Amino acid sequence: MNHAVMPTYGRTDVQFVRGEGAWLIDEQGERYLDALSGLGVVALGHANSAVADALSAQSQALLHTSNLYRIPLQERLAERLASISGMDNMFFANSGAEACECAIKIARLYGHTKQYTEPTIIVAESAFHGRTMATLTATGNRKVHAGFEPLVPGFLRVPYNDINSIEKIAANNNQVVAVFVEPIQGEGGIQIPDPDYLKGLRAICDANDWFLIIDEVQSGNARTGKYFCYQHSDILPDLVTTAKGLGNGVPIGVCLARGKAASLFQPGNHGSTFGGNPLSCAAANAVLDEFERLDIVNHAASMGTYLLDRFNKALLGDNRVKEIRGKGLMLGIELTSPCPDMTQRAFDQKLLINVTADSVIRLLPPLIINQEEADRIVDTICELIKQS
Ligand SMILES: *Cc1c(COP(=O)(O)O)cnc(C)c1O
Repeated sequence: MNHAVMPTYGRTDVQFVRGEGAWLIDEQGERYLDALSGLGVVALGHANSAVADALSAQSQALLHTSNLYRIPLQERLAERLASISGMDNMFFANSGAEACECAIKIARLYGHTKQYTEPTIIVAESAFHGRTMATLTATGNRKVHAGFEPLVPGFLRVPYNDINSIEKIAANNNQVVAVFVEPIQGEGGIQIPDPDYLKGLRAICDANDWFLIIDEVQSGNARTGKYFCYQHSDILPDLVTTAKGLGNGVPIGVCLARGKAASLFQPGNHGSTFGGNPLSCAAANAVLDEFERLDIVNHAASMGTYLLDRFNKALLGDNRVKEIRGKGLMLGIELTSPCPDMTQRAFDQKLLINVTADSVIRLLPPLIINQEEADRIVDTICELIKQS
């Protein structure tokens, strides 16, 4: 490995030189089926030509002006995302963690308008919200915290999918400003809460005048078969963060806000040099065009049902499998014991996946996969599980 790069990742020793849809091609010309999409990013597959054309054209017209001036592509993207989401306005950043930082800042500002001295945000066990100081504090994973103390104050942790523990806090703590959760925990092992969880959170936030902040960095952008995962639940959050799939590989993050949450920031409260620049917004607008043209939300929903159904049938009664979970193309197969070698064994079969929460095989394939590619994912994984 290269010693000039900090060793923050345990990398597989392969270099991809090119991509084609759901496939990545290495230096030797070997083809790998990408069932992870660069961690849920390349939703439209590799080398999507509409995104490439938009980037090429924009790079020749204008890359960057800063947010000191109006950016028509940013305004257009904001209007489209507002209409898709039911939210009122948004702030553009460059990553998921930055989008989450923005939501945390808005929630704290809300607390200060109520004269709270210690605005507190309720977060969940096994959550993942990023690697900056505030978002790593919000993350519910000891490994992410270790060595980086002191953590940021103002967070209270509760078990995921547990409304009662939040009700207890409501009765005892008068500094709470928000509940901040993922609608499906991604890094936490594709944990899908009860169908009425978000509704329950919405009710408790309404009763206490708290913001409901939904982290859709991974679950958003059509991944679960709705544009945003909270849209399965018939609620509207106060703040939504998203990033990964929005730029198809071009860095972009966004924090969407509604109602009171939409009117807190004033000039000088927050900013980003690169956020929402013409290049990243050209990419995201092209992504939304392609989503519409290919009816990607419905395609992700139906391919997800197909994959889940095939996994359930193929692995029925297999005692190595604890649970198969999925919504749209966000799927996890939890084994009964840790499977750290599964990523490498799949790689040897030219299939790219990863393992999260020690024993969960995570699949985030590109949303454009076809049935043949889906079959190949199922056949390879089931074979690997049966050999283990
Ligand atoms: C990946 C992820 C983040 C962090 O996004 P970055 O772009 O890596 O900063 C935050 N929240 C969730 C749910 C994620 O999956």
